[in-house]
Amino acid sequence: MKKSLGIYIHIPFCVQKCRYCDFCSFAGEGDGVKSAYADEIIGRIGAWRGETAGYEADTVYFGGGTPSLMSARDINRILDSINSVFSVSGSAEITLECNPATADGEYFRALRSMGVNRLSMGLQSASDRELALLGRIHTAKDFENTFAQARAAGFDNISADLMYGIPDQDMDSFRATMRYLTALSPEHISAYGLMIEQGTYFEKHAEELRLADDDMQYEMYLACTEYLASCGYGKYEISNFARDGRRSRHNMRYWLGEEYLGFGVAAHSYFGGVRFGNSRDMGAFLRGEDITEERVCLDADDVREEYIMLRLRLSEGIDTRDYACRFGRDFFSDFQVVRDWAKQGFMRILGDRIGFTDKGSFVSNTLLSEMLSLG
Ligand code: SF4
Repeated sequence: MKKSLGIYIHIPFCVQKCRYCDFCSFAGEGDGVKSAYADEIIGRIGAWRGETAGYEADTVYFGGGTPSLMSARDINRILDSINSVFSVSGSAEITLECNPATADGEYFRALRSMGVNRLSMGLQSASDRELALLGRIHTAKDFENTFAQARAAGFDNISADLMYGIPDQDMDSFRATMRYLTALSPEHISAYGLMIEQGTYFEKHAEELRLADDDMQYEMYLACTEYLASCGYGKYEISNFARDGRRSRHNMRYWLGEEYLGFGVAAHSYFGGVRFGNSRDMGAFLRGEDITEERVCLDADDVREEYIMLRLRLSEGIDTRDYACRFGRDFFSDFQVVRDWAKQGFMRILGDRIGFTDKGSFVSNTLLSEMLSLG
C-alpha cells in the first residue's frame, strides 16, 4: 500500500498588497516573471523524480498570493509536471486559491479541464466599505459574479474565507456578511479573526484603527460558530467549517501530521521525518539557487509536541488511547491541568476524547503554549 503525499505550490503574486497581509506575495509582477516562476517550480518538481516511489499524491494545493493570477497555461504546465513526476491518485483533491475579479468563466473551464476540482475564494466581508478598508481589490458583487462563474463552469466544491474583527465592523455587519455568504451556499467556510501582523500597513497605522477588542472578537467567533452550525456547516478545526464530506483534505493533512512537499518561495515541507522550509527570496529562487533556510529532523519529543499542537486544533481533539499507543505515555499524567481547564469550560473531556470548547478554541494559542511548557 502506498503512503499518501500532499503537494503544495506557492504562487506569490497579487494585484496589490492587502493592508493586513503578511503572506509572501508580490504585487505588480508581469507575465514574464510569472512564467519564469512556473519554469522554476517545474524544474524543482523534476528534481524529485524517483524520490517518492512508494507514495501516492492525493492532494494538490495551489496557494498564495493569488494563484488565479497565473495563466491557465502555466497552471497546466505545473500540473503536467506533477503528474509526470509523482504518482497522483485519480481521486486527488486539487485546489486552487482564487480572488474575486481575477478569474472568469473561461479560466474556470480551463481549470476544470486540467483536473482542478476545488476552489478557495476570499470574500472576507460583504461590506464594500470594509473591503476597501482592508485594501481588497474587489467588491462583494465581484465575489458573487466570480462565484457564479465558477459554479457555471462545474465547480461543486468551493470554499470561501471571511474575516471578523475588521476595524469599525460591528456585530450587525458581521452577521450580514455571514448571511450573504451562506446564501451563496459554498461547501466550506474559513473564518479568521483579524490579526495585526508586523510590517503590514495596518501595523504602521494601528493607532488610527478602531479595532475590535478581545471580548468583541470572542462574541463574533461564537456568533460565527453558532450561525454556521445552524446553516449546516460543522466546525472541524478552530477556524474551519464544512458541510458533510467537504472538509479540506489538504489542510487536514497538516493537522494530522501527514507528509507533504511544498514548492516555491516560502513553501514548507514535511517529508521523511524532516521539516524544511524555503525563504521568501524571489530573486534567488528565479536564479535557481537553493533557498532552503530551515531543516529540522524531528525527534520523539518534537513529534509529540506537534501532535498535541495540531490535533487539538481539530474538533475531534486527541484520543488519549491513540496518544498512549503512539508515545507510551498517559495523557492525563502529562497534562493534569486539562482537568482544571475542563472545569473552567475551556476543554471538553468525552470518554477518551479531549478537545477545546468554543471558549477554549478562542484562547487556544495561550492554552497550548502552557501545555507544551508542562509536557
Ligand atoms: S490577496 Fe491574499 S495574499 Fe494577496 S495581499 Fe491580499 S491577503 Fe495577501
